[in-house]
Amino acid sequence: MSAGPAPRRDLSLDPFVQDAAERIRQAAAAGVVLIPRGNSTRDAALRAHAGEALALGAYAGIVQHTPTELVVTARAGTPLRTLVAALAAEGQRLPFEPPLGDPRATLGGAVALGTSGPARPYRAALRDALLGVTLLDGTGTLCRFGGEVMKNVAGFDVSRLMAGSYGQLGAMLEISLRLEPCPEVTQTQALACDLDDALARMPALAARPGALTGLAWLDGQLLARFEGGAVEVALDAAAAGGETLPPPVADNLWSTLREGPLAPLAGEHLWRLALPVDAPVWALPSARWAVDWGGGRRWLSTTAPDAAVEQALSAVGGHGLRVAPSVRRSPQPGALRALEARVAGAMDPSGVFAHGAAPGEAD
Ligand SMILES: Cc1cc2nc3c(=O)[nH]c(=O)nc-3n(C[C@H](O)[C@H](O)[C@H](O)COP(=O)(O)OP(=O)(O)OC[C@H]3O[C@@H](n4cnc5c(N)ncnc54)[C@H](O)[C@@H]3O)c2cc1C
Repeated sequence: MSAGPAPRRDLSLDPFVQDAAERIRQAAAAGVVLIPRGNSTRDAALRAHAGEALALGAYAGIVQHTPTELVVTARAGTPLRTLVAALAAEGQRLPFEPPLGDPRATLGGAVALGTSGPARPYRAALRDALLGVTLLDGTGTLCRFGGEVMKNVAGFDVSRLMAGSYGQLGAMLEISLRLEPCPEVTQTQALACDLDDALARMPALAARPGALTGLAWLDGQLLARFEGGAVEVALDAAAAGGETLPPPVADNLWSTLREGPLAPLAGEHLWRLALPVDAPVWALPSARWAVDWGGGRRWLSTTAPDAAVEQALSAVGGHGLRVAPSVRRSPQPGALRALEARVAGAMDPSGVFAHGAAPGEAD
């Protein structure tokens, strides 16, 4: 890590980058499909897609962390936990909450999957924290989008398309992210209630945003997390009511929400849904629920046929992703499909990264 701006490095001189670029050019010429890989913690899901691995996990390390600027640049293969620990040592953190369960999980994999975690409506979505990305596109050309300074956050940047790109738009090499200071205090209030009751209470809690950074329902408890200065947190937590959870218990619950709170039982399908916060609870066979984002993100495990879930989704204008037993996205509107095809055509004209994983699933 360094405290000040470093001279611009020319990545095109890096032998790892040269090898990867050559591999992409050869694959494009031979009509071979490549799947960029970090450390393959999602191997089972990726095996469903035909293609040869383009191994990027070894391209790891923090390139630059400028604490005064609240910006970090790291190689895509950097383990997330390594990055998070280095930031914490400086009293800083990522503004989004990616799954951290597997110690091998990489920054590039997290960006490609685009999962933002429980704080998304209150702190930031992963894509909003992306300041810049350096990648190899489908022609093996080194491209740099965005930058390493905060002002890039103001406008839309191609680098944000990499959130949820599932390795379909290019092989990410370096990623620059905006950071935030760690809060002085974190406190979670819990109230035992059923899901209908929790959904009815959530709008009032969300209407007082203040220090709120999480609003969820898990295992029969409404959870409200507050972060910030001690006085603000104490005031907002008192207004929310309920009981204060011991920090390790609270951390465990938020981490469960972050990693994915439900595992499907035999015969069940697991769905990750994005719904209007006031959408009612659907009556579906053997439905088990977990709710995040003040009602906007819902996890559902059910024996109901997919068509029943998709019908309920379209009735409330929501969308969703079946995540188990296999990944299947609910149908996308035609205009969105056409836009995705145009972006992929520009970044990857010969389809070298068109391995079939569904892009656009970022939250
Ligand atoms: C069963 C299971 C389910 C999970 N579900 C999720 C989830 O829904 N969302 C989530 O965020 N995390 C999920 N995770 C956690 C996931 O492991 C981490 O997000 C992790 O950071 C992925 O890193 P990886 O290096 O292992 O990625 P890999 O498993 O190697 O790849 C994951 C995806 O990222 C792409 N990718 C990886 N590196 C690059 C790169 N440098 N450039 C371009 N594309 C790249 C791959 O093509 C692939 O689409 C899950 C983990 C497991 C085990």
